[in-house]
Amino acid sequence: MTSAPRVAIVGGGPAGSLLAILLARRGVIATVIERSPPFVVGQAGGRSINLALAARGITALRRAGIDAEVTALMIAMRGRMLHEQDGKQRFLSYGQRVTEEIYSVSRAALNALIFEIAAKRYGVQYRFGETCVGVDLTDGAPLIAAADGSTRRLDADVVFATDGAGSEVRRALADAGEISATEDLLDHGYKELTIAAAQDGGFALEPHALHIWPRGRFMLIALPNPDRTFTATLFLPHTGDPSFASIGPNEVPAFFRREFADAVPQLPALARDYVSHPTGNLGTVTCGPWSFKDKVLMVGDAAHAIVPFHGQGMNAAFEDCVALDDLIGTHGYDWHAVFAAFEAERAPNARAIAEMALENYLEMRDEVRDAKFELRAALSFELERRFPGHWVPRYSMVMFHPEIPYAEAQRRGGLQTGILRKLTENVSSVTEVDLTRATELVSTVLG
Ligand SMILES: Cc1cc2nc3c(=O)[nH]c(=O)nc-3n(C[C@H](O)[C@H](O)[C@H](O)COP(=O)(O)OP(=O)(O)OC[C@H]3O[C@@H](n4cnc5c(N)ncnc54)[C@H](O)[C@@H]3O)c2cc1C
Repeated sequence: MTSAPRVAIVGGGPAGSLLAILLARRGVIATVIERSPPFVVGQAGGRSINLALAARGITALRRAGIDAEVTALMIAMRGRMLHEQDGKQRFLSYGQRVTEEIYSVSRAALNALIFEIAAKRYGVQYRFGETCVGVDLTDGAPLIAAADGSTRRLDADVVFATDGAGSEVRRALADAGEISATEDLLDHGYKELTIAAAQDGGFALEPHALHIWPRGRFMLIALPNPDRTFTATLFLPHTGDPSFASIGPNEVPAFFRREFADAVPQLPALARDYVSHPTGNLGTVTCGPWSFKDKVLMVGDAAHAIVPFHGQGMNAAFEDCVALDDLIGTHGYDWHAVFAAFEAERAPNARAIAEMALENYLEMRDEVRDAKFELRAALSFELERRFPGHWVPRYSMVMFHPEIPYAEAQRRGGLQTGILRKLTENVSSVTEVDLTRATELVSTVLG
């Protein structure tokens, strides 16, 4: 096929809209089916929910030519601010270069901005209020329910399913036995709460940090918003003690006073938020193959949703879009070749970030409290200084080095962790570490 294909994108979230822009820059104007009402540009609308944007996502935005516009939405976070039970705060830097920071961005504002650019600048057609309710198994055409309840096929040459973690396309293909899919739910859920601005209108907490109240089996985190509030998220088991089941509206004030005392004055709407905001589920989606009949391809969360503890789900979804764009550049509209190469390249990386995200939960809620954790992090920075380009801390590889694929970050990170554990076995500070042994280990283990 040499003329521009008819492209349908199911789901106008971050991945769907970014992909629509990348395709439009190739002269392919997609139709985007989005079940939500039209996105409101210029205001987040309702409560603000934010997420962390890092280098992989920014690289993708740059590819689409929209990184400068997104910059206006970003608040830099340079490290983790740990809040101990007694209220003491400790800052752990994410990196050691000024550019090594991640960014808090309003999910709704980012989504609306990418949509606006896709629609206004590139003429992408959005069909809001239309929902994909299945797939015609004869040829992969999505089945679309309009707001008036009527259902129709959407004829297209190719369909990109970017309909998120609960993908209807994935469900339809899995139910028909065309693909296999699993959703591994975590036994922990989450609830979003709001940290108010200070009385003088400023931020109540350090704005350039991701705040964590690590408490072992559970944690509270908070990311800054442009309106000087923070969106806090409580991660807690669904059952047991403490859990969402054991902490009802009556228990929540005492639970927060005991566990997160320094945050309580900043949470004036705690009781109301706790009752009125839903408890969300967290899980990892795996499925395969990611495509059907050389016609339908799942991209982003639809193919590989992960738990949010590395702040990489959207970043990975954006990275998918760039990989897809590159492969279209290489193979043209030979969808068989594009889909096969996409899954071969992205599936191992999706698996790697899914596993690292699960590990990071333990790190954030528990391991950060351990003095050995801090020692290993400090040593890892020291080794990065001593072996530039050869040693990069795993967190940095994932967050600041988009040129290192996730699978490679996981592989090298595993080797580095082994080295760090050996070198810190019997010492309590970096100055005590045997650096001759460090040099030997780095050259023999990392090669
Ligand atoms: C609590 C939490 C915190 C997170 N924090 C971060 C973070 O800090 N950093 C990060 O990178 N990622 C984070 N993530 C992950 C991130 O939200 C997702 O990875 C990202 O949104 C995936 O983008 P997507 O476009 O693939 O899917 P989605 O964002 O889910 O978008 C899917 C779109 O499809 C639409 N849709 C769904 N079903 C249908 C249908 N049947 N028909 C038509 N339209 C449909 C939806 O309305 C939506 O617009 C977090 C996730 C959670 C749950």
